[in-house]
Amino acid sequence: SMAGNGKAAAAGVVVPEIKYTKLFINGEFVDAVSGKTFETRDPRTGDVLAHVAEAGKADVDLAVKAARDAFEHGKWPRMSGYERGRIMNKLADLVDQHTEELAALDGADAGKLLLLGKIIDVPGATQMLRYYAGAADKIHGDVLRVSGKYQGYTLKEPIGVVGVIIPWNFPTMMFFLKVSPALAAGCTVVVKPAEQTPLSALYYAHLAKLAGVPDGVINVVPGFGHTAGAAITSHMDVDSVAFTGSTEIGRLIMESAARSNLKTVSLELGGKSPLIVFDDADVDMAVNLSRLAIFFNKGEVCVAGSRVYVQEGIYDEFVKKAVEAAQSWKVGDPFDVTTNMGPQVDKEQFEKVLKYIEHGKSEGATLLTGGKPAAEKGYYIEPTIFVDVTDDMKIAQEEIFGPVMSLMKFKTVDEVIEKANCTKYGLAAGIVTKSLDIANRVSRSVRAGTVWVNCYFAFDPDAPFGGYKMSGFGRDQGLAAMDKYLQVKSVITALPDSPW
Ligand code: NAD
Repeated sequence: SMAGNGKAAAAGVVVPEIKYTKLFINGEFVDAVSGKTFETRDPRTGDVLAHVAEAGKADVDLAVKAARDAFEHGKWPRMSGYERGRIMNKLADLVDQHTEELAALDGADAGKLLLLGKIIDVPGATQMLRYYAGAADKIHGDVLRVSGKYQGYTLKEPIGVVGVIIPWNFPTMMFFLKVSPALAAGCTVVVKPAEQTPLSALYYAHLAKLAGVPDGVINVVPGFGHTAGAAITSHMDVDSVAFTGSTEIGRLIMESAARSNLKTVSLELGGKSPLIVFDDADVDMAVNLSRLAIFFNKGEVCVAGSRVYVQEGIYDEFVKKAVEAAQSWKVGDPFDVTTNMGPQVDKEQFEKVLKYIEHGKSEGATLLTGGKPAAEKGYYIEPTIFVDVTDDMKIAQEEIFGPVMSLMKFKTVDEVIEKANCTKYGLAAGIVTKSLDIANRVSRSVRAGTVWVNCYFAFDPDAPFGGYKMSGFGRDQGLAAMDKYLQVKSVITALPDSPW
């Protein structure tokens, strides 16, 4: 897989070469002011993968200053959208050329499948980048109907310095999900990748410089949430924060924005998404979809289909086949092309998932398969299925962020709509049915930002993505995402001599 580039660690585990481990501020890789570093670990073994410079408040101050200077005095916001788009397209080409290496970096840092990194994460990220490169020269306002002797129009202007705080489950996608529209808008950014997965973001900073993104436009400050992250959200000179992560931290980010300079925030938070399978479904297709929906990326997906509701007519058959499907989902080294699922990202998540499994058992749910660590070393967990789950149980309400499916039976459409909406979250939902009427009715009744009918995880840069309820607000993807990075200015001009 990484022949010629990586080195093989103990027991055949291939580790990619790691080139960038310092902070990236104002176009240069630099040590932290404090000189501190932190460890990022390989979840396949628990071994240290790299020591990475650890940003603190002083470093965030420097990064924000660089971003502010680049915004106020640099050419990026003043360049034509077309020119920004050309540089973004060049960056996309460079990222594509390094696909193998970047997929391997995320693979080793996050335990993600190398193969899927190469065919989903990296190409998906460059598709996103190119989508917004194409949007950069199509940012325009409206002509207003203003009463009286005036004319009016709106200007869309870049919002300024954007703080980007992202999680570890899709390090590459998350980076470009936020950075691409921000760049297209003419903003400058300070990105804090998750402490578990800082490596690919630093690589992207390097490639951005090669592509011609001016110094100070993209800054990357790896570090921890309560230090580097909090320094961004409380900073008086950051204009907006774009965040993806937990609902708990989303709340802190809003508080911090409110207490400092009232910067705008957009929050893409957790989920407990239902996948609803109706009696008329093709059971084999539905079982495969449900397996993908919860076990893809080891369940470390904000839109994971963690609650599976199956109508009573096919319930018994579904359960039997779902257990077989889970048992044939291969857990192992994410660099092995036959593996379906790698290890959880770190020890903390590993322990958290196992704790939820214990809760499921003690609350009276029946564990049908899985439920244990899947290896002696590393943070591997077996694909797990619970039945006899009731809607009030922790495993039906809280985001586990691991390979744990809660299977539930329902009778009527009315009943399942109510159940689908009975958590605090509203990120996504899936529906499997051949009935157009049921699909349409449920699509409109579920309070979620994305609904998939007879599919799951069908993402596209053009489809706005975000939450209802406590899954957050603001939209990533689509032209809707540009709004987060733009201000609207109304310009009204007097027309004293207008004939009408
Ligand atoms: P988190 O919300 O703690 O971390 C996300 C990002 O926020 C990281 O970069 C982190 O360093 C940063 N952060 C943490 N505290 C901060 C603070 N006080 N101020 C500013 N930034 C801060 O998520 P996590 O700890 O990585 O995972 C915990 C849970 O979050 C998971 O179990 C899962 O439920 C959820 N999660 C959701 C998503 C998603 O895509 N919606 C992604 C990852 C995790």
